[in-house]
Amino acid sequence: MSINQTPYLLYSDGKGNIFEDTSLYVTGRSGWDACMVPNEDWIELPDGGSLYELPGRRCIGIDVKTGDLLLFDKGWAVAAFLPPAHTAFYLSAYETQPEAPVLPLFCYTAVGWLDEKFYVPAIRIEQDIRQECRGFDDKKVEDGISHLIKSYPKNRLVNHLANNCALNYHCPAARNYFMGRWECPVPVSSACNANCVGCISLQPDEEEIVSPQERLGFKPSVEEIIEFTVPHLETAPYPLISFGQGCEGEPLLMWRIIEQTILEIRKHTQKGSVNINTNGSKPKAVKKLCEAGLNSIRVSTNSARREIYMPYYRPNNYQFEDIVESLKIVNSFGGWTSLNYFVFPGMTDNVEEYEALRKLIRETGLKMIQWRTLTLTPTGTCEKLA
Ligand code: SF4
Repeated sequence: MSINQTPYLLYSDGKGNIFEDTSLYVTGRSGWDACMVPNEDWIELPDGGSLYELPGRRCIGIDVKTGDLLLFDKGWAVAAFLPPAHTAFYLSAYETQPEAPVLPLFCYTAVGWLDEKFYVPAIRIEQDIRQECRGFDDKKVEDGISHLIKSYPKNRLVNHLANNCALNYHCPAARNYFMGRWECPVPVSSACNANCVGCISLQPDEEEIVSPQERLGFKPSVEEIIEFTVPHLETAPYPLISFGQGCEGEPLLMWRIIEQTILEIRKHTQKGSVNINTNGSKPKAVKKLCEAGLNSIRVSTNSARREIYMPYYRPNNYQFEDIVESLKIVNSFGGWTSLNYFVFPGMTDNVEEYEALRKLIRETGLKMIQWRTLTLTPTGTCEKLA
């Protein structure tokens, strides 16, 4: 339901308390611009969403009476964290002060206040309930963890999924696994052949940015993987196993282990699907995995354009064209192909990107796009009112 006016600006006192100021409307950031957000783009902050205060950042608002763009100096800017299945249209608009600390790698969505509610410029992009916060039962997750840890006491991967992913990062896929349903995550790689600016699992030591997750620190064996994935495929509703998770590097660097694993799994069961979430960098390896029985691929990218992709992914030894080739190969085997498409307001929503994306969809026979908001903190300051 569209709201009939722009929400009011929110600010924090720097001590975790958040206040509204009804003399100012909130703005949103798109690219370098601070913008008035159209009324139809606002939705209530979804269940599972949360708020951030942004130290050292002054929010930008619009004077309710004059319509002037104003820098607000009474407190720090505020932003919202959107739960999975939602995509942001605008980021939080603020001016960064010289002494501002570096923010961790999250997505800082604009947020405002109206009629006793928080509002965000966003859309629920995925209706699938797999990641719905209220669908998780902590007791069932804990019971599942103690049962499976007892069942596989020496399995390092089950241990990692329990203590690291489910209990520490609250990863939806790991929690679904321990609830015995849907997708089971299978991280396998501690290395990557890309150097994404906003990598959430590893940031260079010299970098001030902190990655919110740690990378897997061991090389799982085929035996370890099939020990818990075959029973999951056999018993879970809508069973799926997925290589390539947020807590690892690039799974295609471990394609031989994955190939042997798929072949071994299919000796035990034909149930369920085998998916890989990947940067798509090694089409030859993808072909081998399709021959072994891979059912689907989800390739991550921040753009359908080489000139935007290369400076962000900073690949070691592959090209943008390789990820396109990987999608084509899975499509040629009749597999399901999707993009994990990192959205950045002001960059994704422009004509050049739209045309490039249409071309990519046609060329690769792409089946689905998962629109994810890029976890990257815009530095600097909004330049002008658009
Ligand atoms: S492809 Fe993934 S793991 Fe590799 S650098 Fe990029 S975000 Fe990190």
